[in-house]
Amino acid sequence: MGLFLQVIPVEEAITRITSIAPPKKREVVPLEDAFGRILAEDARSDIDIPGFTRSIVDGYAVVAGDTHGASDSIPAMLELEGRIAMGGSTAGRLQRGRCMYIPTGGALPDGADAVVMIEYSEQMGDQVLVNRPVAAGENVLAKGEDFRAGEVVLEAGKRLGPQELGVLAAIGYSRASVAEKPVIGIVSTGIELVPVADVPKAGQVRDVNAHLCGGFVRECGGIPRHYGIVRDDPGVLEQVLTNAVAECDAILVSGGSSKDERDIVASVIERRGRVLVHGIALQPGKPTIIGTAGDVPVIGLPGHPASAFVVLQVIVRPLLALMTGEREKRCIVQARLAQNVPSSKGREEYVRVTVSGGWATPLFGKSGLLNTLVRSSGMIRIPAGSEGFETGEEVEVILW
Ligand code: AMP
Ligand code: MG
Repeated sequence: MGLFLQVIPVEEAITRITSIAPPKKREVVPLEDAFGRILAEDARSDIDIPGFTRSIVDGYAVVAGDTHGASDSIPAMLELEGRIAMGGSTAGRLQRGRCMYIPTGGALPDGADAVVMIEYSEQMGDQVLVNRPVAAGENVLAKGEDFRAGEVVLEAGKRLGPQELGVLAAIGYSRASVAEKPVIGIVSTGIELVPVADVPKAGQVRDVNAHLCGGFVRECGGIPRHYGIVRDDPGVLEQVLTNAVAECDAILVSGGSSKDERDIVASVIERRGRVLVHGIALQPGKPTIIGTAGDVPVIGLPGHPASAFVVLQVIVRPLLALMTGEREKRCIVQARLAQNVPSSKGREEYVRVTVSGGWATPLFGKSGLLNTLVRSSGMIRIPAGSEGFETGEEVEVILW
């Protein structure tokens, strides 16, 4: 092992990490339990939706041709044939010159091809005066206009939110095949770390990364499994890693990922498996390790929480997306830079920014600051070949 990290480009690191992704697993869950899960197969409708041509307003079902030329001064006069009941279908056919009262959601009778809104009509006994013409198809939703039977309505990889659950219900999914949640082991290393409940003494810091990683894992559709703090002892770390390998689909170890004598993570991974990457041309996030223990990916994250977060977003997210099948969906907005953002060539750099009124303001600060994590709305990417961006330039902000 040399003294310095052998950095590789970000793209190559992503290729390596995705090459060690364990295969996805799936399970079937009741629709009631499917919120937030990732759909494992395409969902198709079992029926046409709507299943019948229906009115989208309260009014009168008519033959559109009967209303041509209707106006306030010369209304069309139609004979009222009766009322359509909700939830039922009508027998018989609407004849020319006639109409039927129809509520919103009612089934359009055969022969009718449009609905006149109640506001543009007047009932007088058995007659209805229509004072606006309607075109064929007006105010109706045709059978199958929303979704056709057999059509793919939601694609595999979609995260199920409230809207998706509603649509799955409409297309007959009382159960859904979803990605099994990968279990992700989380280990924090550092002799200076203390648990959250402790008040740190001089030289100590609370373990931030365990919770940062835990939240990130959940956001990506996994289950975090916490292995606590390891105080930079290679023997202890090796034992923890051995336990975690038996219980997890991937493992995140933070701290100790560089090349100081305290930085034990790479050598411990080496003892249990293989180090594939040690060093990425990424700022922040250079001291990152990608390795395996058995078949289990082990990622060494830098200790600084803000750096670890960038590595989670840029390097670990694609791994977890492959493990769950989630189609990467990032919310990106365009904004103009409120300040110059210089960057050195040769590494891909991420700068946290706040966005307001179409302007992105970079949050510069010394490495190790936590405040930019919570004050920023997202980050901008400066490609490896660029020397940065100038004030007023349009940039893409990847929102958290
Ligand atoms: P290291 O990567 O171990 O050299 O750590 C770099 C910096 O990150 C040091 O200031 C550590 O105290 C800090 N650090 C490491 N791990 C954590 C953690 N889990 N929570 C908060 N800070 C950490
Ligand atoms: Mg450390």
